[in-house]
Amino acid sequence: MFMKSSQWLQADWTVGGRPGRPRKGAATVTPRRDLGVTKWGVRRARRTQRRSGRWAFLVRTSVIAAAVALLDTIDLLAALAAQRRRPLPTRPRFRRNIERHQQRPGAFVVTVLALFGRAGRDPSTDPPSRLRWAPSDSEQPVTAVATVDLVRYEKGLHEVADRVWAYLQPDGGWGWSNAGLVVDGEDALLVDTLFDLRLTAEMLEAMRQVTATGAIGTVVNTHANGDHCFGNALLADSDIIASARCAEEMEHLPPSTLAAMLRAASTLGDAGAFVSRIFAPFDFEDIPLTLPTKTFESELDLRVGDRRIRLLEVGPAHTAGDVVAYLPDEGVLFTGDILFHGGHPIVWAGPVSNWIAACDRILELAPSVVVPGHGPLAAPAAVSDLKEYFEFLTREARSRFEEGLTPMEAARDIDLGPYAGWSEAERLVANLHALYRDFGSDLPADALTLMGEMALLAS
Ligand SMILES: [Zn+2]
Repeated sequence: MFMKSSQWLQADWTVGGRPGRPRKGAATVTPRRDLGVTKWGVRRARRTQRRSGRWAFLVRTSVIAAAVALLDTIDLLAALAAQRRRPLPTRPRFRRNIERHQQRPGAFVVTVLALFGRAGRDPSTDPPSRLRWAPSDSEQPVTAVATVDLVRYEKGLHEVADRVWAYLQPDGGWGWSNAGLVVDGEDALLVDTLFDLRLTAEMLEAMRQVTATGAIGTVVNTHANGDHCFGNALLADSDIIASARCAEEMEHLPPSTLAAMLRAASTLGDAGAFVSRIFAPFDFEDIPLTLPTKTFESELDLRVGDRRIRLLEVGPAHTAGDVVAYLPDEGVLFTGDILFHGGHPIVWAGPVSNWIAACDRILELAPSVVVPGHGPLAAPAAVSDLKEYFEFLTREARSRFEEGLTPMEAARDIDLGPYAGWSEAERLVANLHALYRDFGSDLPADALTLMGEMALLAS
């Protein structure tokens, strides 16, 4: 029996018998001899098979190449359009961060979504802004690429995932902290209050627009610095949660101490002048100290409605009891002052090695969106940068410590290299004091001494 080559090809793939009549249970390929195919027929069939395989390969390759070229073009146009709408920040380091985020796989998808979703609209006219460019029924959390590339660094509420907001306060310098809000049904949780009652009231008013009842049942303080907890006084009826170490430190740093320091500033020399200048926009008079009502150690899992929030104690680092708040289902992480984005961190407590470990812990969580304690929203790359900063500073400090330089001499001597563009550079001397302390130094490093040295470095 002779068969056409197309029939043979079909027969060759038929297991255990003739086409259309498979033999039950058998799994052997029918010998070609049994099909009565000639040698010539087999060669011709193989040639045809090879040829059709080559054609299929060529067509597939061409389609893929054309698709890639098209997507690249769209990506380029979208990136140019996005950049025209919001020029990149001028700080070289920050600009490099953004460029790095843009190179991440998937960046073009977000950029295209942004182009078509936001074209012709000014985000500042949407109170509060939504940062979730994907369709609202999408299961995917917003990616860090979208956050870093497209979110304006503007005062106010910005939705960073479904019903999760960051409240930003540019420029992120001394006292200008960020906060966070998580809402589910009638439940709402606030991450940090602000430095004084006026600013906190303004923030709570903005938040009333997005909460069901206007009430905030739970407040988390990430640490004891006043710019993250003095506003607690306006939420005295809420559950206020912090690490036990944070709560203890808050008792020693009441608003009244800062108010008294400012009143006495004229007698405190350089430190007084510096504190007066950096804290001039804030009012600490008559703020009652409002302490946490619930404390924990190490970790605490919370729920806001059905949403999960995990509090992780990562201090002592910036302060004695630093906590970060993580939403595992949304991939959003509120760092408190473990991250100052675009500015120098300041090590009040240390050890610095613990702060580096905190960075590692955040990076292991691989969040999509990082809400820093100060500065614009970030991607995890900003946490990597911070870790590298501390590793760099540890090396630079160690050699100068061994040479016998004071922290102030070391601060004046160190070439900050890639970190030269970070703001609040005067904090370098405080960070060197912390590292010297880690190395075993017992030089005085109380707040007034540090403020005085920072004043000199800033002048
Ligand atoms: Zn702060």
